[in-house]
Parts: sequence; C-alpha cells; structure tokens
Amino acid sequence: MTGAVGYTLPNHRESEVKPHRLFVALAIFGIASLSHAAVSPVLVIHGGAGVIRRDMTPAREKVVRAAMTLALKNGYAQLKAGKPAPDVVAAAITVLEDDENFNAGKGSVFTHDGKNELDAAIMDGNTLSAGAVAGVRRIKNPIQLARAVMEKTPYVMLSGDGAETFAQSIGMPLVNPSYFRTEERWQQLQKALKEDAAKQPHADVETAKHFGTVGAVALDVQGHLAAGTSTGGMNDKRWGRVGDSPIIGAGTYANSGCAVSATGWGEFYIRTVAAHEICMKVTQMRVPLKRAAAEVINQEIPSMGGNGGAIALDADGQISIPFNTDGMYRGWIGADGVPHVALYGDEDDGTAELPAPADSAE
Ligand code: ASP
Repeated sequence: MTGAVGYTLPNHRESEVKPHRLFVALAIFGIASLSHAAVSPVLVIHGGAGVIRRDMTPAREKVVRAAMTLALKNGYAQLKAGKPAPDVVAAAITVLEDDENFNAGKGSVFTHDGKNELDAAIMDGNTLSAGAVAGVRRIKNPIQLARAVMEKTPYVMLSGDGAETFAQSIGMPLVNPSYFRTEERWQQLQKALKEDAAKQPHADVETAKHFGTVGAVALDVQGHLAAGTSTGGMNDKRWGRVGDSPIIGAGTYANSGCAVSATGWGEFYIRTVAAHEICMKVTQMRVPLKRAAAEVINQEIPSMGGNGGAIALDADGQISIPFNTDGMYRGWIGADGVPHVALYGDEDDGTAELPAPADSAE
C-alpha cells in the first residue's frame, strides 16, 4: 500500500527519461492508485438456520426483518464512512444480541440447569487477530467482550467467571443473569426437559428447531474482511457445553481473502473446522467462494449427520449463503445500498443474481 505513495519520476532531465522507464513508472503509479481506490463495502448477516417455515406469526416476522434491516443499514453506513470491518461486524451483531428474537444476548436459550451461558467470537482478517468468550452469564453483549479480548489481552479465548472478571477490569458493566430470561426460551427448555425425561440425550437438537445464533461478515473500504458470531448455544445444553461459534476456525474465521460465520449444530462445525475449511479452499486452493461454501455446508456437514448454514464473503465482495435446513435468517447489503433480507428456504435472497467473478469456474 505504502510502497508507491508519493512516487516521483527519477530526477533525470527530460531527454534522459527512457520510454521503458516512463512505462514502468506509469505502471507503478497505476498500481498505487488502484491500491488506494476505495473498495465497494459489503455486509452480510445471519440470525440462525433451522426449521423456519411460513407458519411464523406476521408480527414476529415483521420484528425479525426489522432488526435485520436495521443491523444492515447501520452497518453499511459505518462501512461507507470508512469504519474498519471488525467494528462493523461487532456493531451489527450487537443490534441482534439486543433483540430477544435471536438466540444470542437477550434472547439466549437456557441450559439444562435453567441458566444462560453465552458464547461469541470475532476475527480480524487483516491482522488474523481474534477474540472469543465462552460460557459467560452476565455479559449483555458478548461480542463486545470478545472484541475486547482481541484488542486488550494477549489471549484469544476467555471463559466463564474469568471472562467476567476481565470485563469488570475494563469497565464493562455486568448485568443480572435475569436479564436473559424470556418466557419463550424458558418454555423451550421445559419442552426439552420433558423430552429428556422421556427419551434421553440430544432431544435438544430436535427441540432447537431454529438455532437462532447471529453472525456477521464484512468487507470494508480498505478491502479488509472480518467475521463474528454470537450465540446462547443449544437449548438444554449441559456440563458447560461450548459449541462452534466462539471457536476460531469452526464457527468463525476470517483472513485476507475470506470471512465466514456459521450457524447450526455446533459439534459438526467443530469437527469439520467448517469456517476455516471454507476459507482454506478459497484462499489456498482457489476454489470459488460459492463452491467452497457449498462443499462444506451442503455436502460435508450433512454427510456426517449435521445441519445448519453459513454466511461467507470474499475479498472481491462475492457473497455465499448456503444452508441445508428449511430456512435461514439472512441478509446482505452491498453497492446498491439496499438491505436484502430473507428468512425462508424458498425466498429469493438476491445472492443468486450477483455477478460471478470474471475468473470463476462455476
Ligand atoms: N452453532 C451454535 C451452537 O452449536 C448454535 C446455532 O448456530 O444456533 O452452539
């Protein structure tokens, strides 16, 4: 970026400037200008995958769409204003964490013991720095704490009480755990507990129906990518279970060419290191983003018995939103500045019409 800034022609008399030198100088200048040209920013978000059907009440559908639209519009305005991708990812996720319709922050599901244990992670694709928190019970916006872990500690992941002590040490207020109690999630736990009594383990997976985790990936005007994910995890989870969302590489990953946030049955995303797998296909194997994401989400994970979806974005602004469930809360905003939000599996989310990159093999 900086190499050719202020490049001046060598100090020769005009007659001494050889044509090929002039050509080289102009080429360097051209590359320098290109590298300084602002990239067209993109923001993609999700609010979870699962059994999402048209039997949702119109009121609920309206608030879900409104929250996602707000997150997209605010985030895009920040990107246009030159904010870096990690800031925008954290801001978009914060909007969704504050809305009880998503299984993250306020609307988090309950553990088997009737508690809420929240996980979140963020990764800066430009620096490969990352931060995560797992099993926190008193943090209103876990994504903000994950970001603080990334920026203010030498660690990547903090968990439980220690993470909350760190939050206090940087002046982040703790909330009463009752903040996370919503009637709907409580009833979901009661249903799962009844199923537990009748059937035994993993009834939680069927009861989860809609997983509801939230996530965001962004490409900023500098051409840098970031990814973040936040979740209450799985309904009725036990024994301090931690899913894929806060595990860098599993549910969340970003590098210089690719950013992914996943949602679904976490154990499968951990075992396939799903987000990293998609990005390695893109950046190391040069597989086009859509194909890379589909191979992991629509082939690898279901072949092992898992399910879910992901949002993926590459450095060219290509978007991919594969899922193998009924539906997925998903949205994106790009060059036209129009937020696109879709919930159902058969609903057009506008990504199919996006132009493929010139060298795409798809
Ligand atoms: N992946 C999350 C977990 O397993 C759940 C979700 O995506 O909704 O904790």
